[in-house]
Amino acid sequence: MPHSSGGGSHSGGSHSSHSSSSSYHSSSGGGSSGGDIFPSNRRVSSQPFKGCSRYLYYKDNQPHFVYSNYDVRKRSMGNFIAGIIISALFFLPVVIIGIVTMCMSYEVPKRLTYFNNKKPDIVIEDNLGVFEDKKKLKDSMKQFYQETGIVPAVITVRNEDWNEDYVNLEKYAYDVYVNRFSDEAHWLIVYSSATKDNGFDDWYWEGMQGDKTDPIITGKLADRFTESLQTRLLQRSKYSVEDAIAVTFGEYSSKMMQPRLDASKLILGLLLFTIFSGLIVFVLTGPYKPGKVPEEYKNAKPCNLTKVFQEPCNFCGGIYIIGMHTTCPHCGAALPAHHYIKDEQGNVVELMT
Ligand SMILES: [Zn+2]
Repeated sequence: MPHSSGGGSHSGGSHSSHSSSSSYHSSSGGGSSGGDIFPSNRRVSSQPFKGCSRYLYYKDNQPHFVYSNYDVRKRSMGNFIAGIIISALFFLPVVIIGIVTMCMSYEVPKRLTYFNNKKPDIVIEDNLGVFEDKKKLKDSMKQFYQETGIVPAVITVRNEDWNEDYVNLEKYAYDVYVNRFSDEAHWLIVYSSATKDNGFDDWYWEGMQGDKTDPIITGKLADRFTESLQTRLLQRSKYSVEDAIAVTFGEYSSKMMQPRLDASKLILGLLLFTIFSGLIVFVLTGPYKPGKVPEEYKNAKPCNLTKVFQEPCNFCGGIYIIGMHTTCPHCGAALPAHHYIKDEQGNVVELMT
């Protein structure tokens, strides 16, 4: 359905096209409290427990044992992978939406193609008889059509034609539009005045745009057009009615097609992008960062010995577990092999003294 693109009257006031209540709603899912999406049940203890393996490590020249149900030398990646999955599922899509929104904030209007294979009929209908020279008006309306693909129409009427049956010119212009143009691709300007001279020129005007024109005649541009035309219509010494309309159509032929930057879209996109890529960084370096292997566990060895014997190294004095090494874990010196006897399972069963 067509809708008002704005209008005005002799009193000088003009009204805009929209009640303009656009708002963005963005909702984002709550974050995760972090931690145990994939519970790994990794357990490490200084005491043995069911299902554990024993690891031997050295610290301060002394052997230590630690019991765990996983390889203590390997870092835990489960948490980090969970973080990546959460980011990919919940945060990355919003980051992408943010980028797309930013790209969409820059818009180059496309000419309306509705009339491409039709011969548009540019209507100038002066029922009031106020137009002296229609040529300039027609030329500028043609130019407007060529630039935008929107067919303008200008109709003048008498106040008496509508002010008894309609509450205002907008309602009347709406009816004129739907009765004359079924395509929603016209932009109709209705100019109305009294035929009787009451001592002042009692004029009104109204613009009515079809839905197909909305991407080109945006609310903002319609408002600017309304203001320009209203300003000119108020300067009767400078512009006749048809001049005012012609000059304004001429002015807006190219303005309608200029690339636009939608600041609210740009800001929204930037916010979504920044907040949610920040969340990804936070999640992957914070609660879901890869687990760290304690320094002393890095050189730990699985130790299945059933009996544990230890002795000091002849060279450095550091204590080591017999049967686990061929060189000293502290200084690297070769260890005497004859100090113990191993059984078939590799367990030290006897120390030679
Ligand atoms: Zn040593």
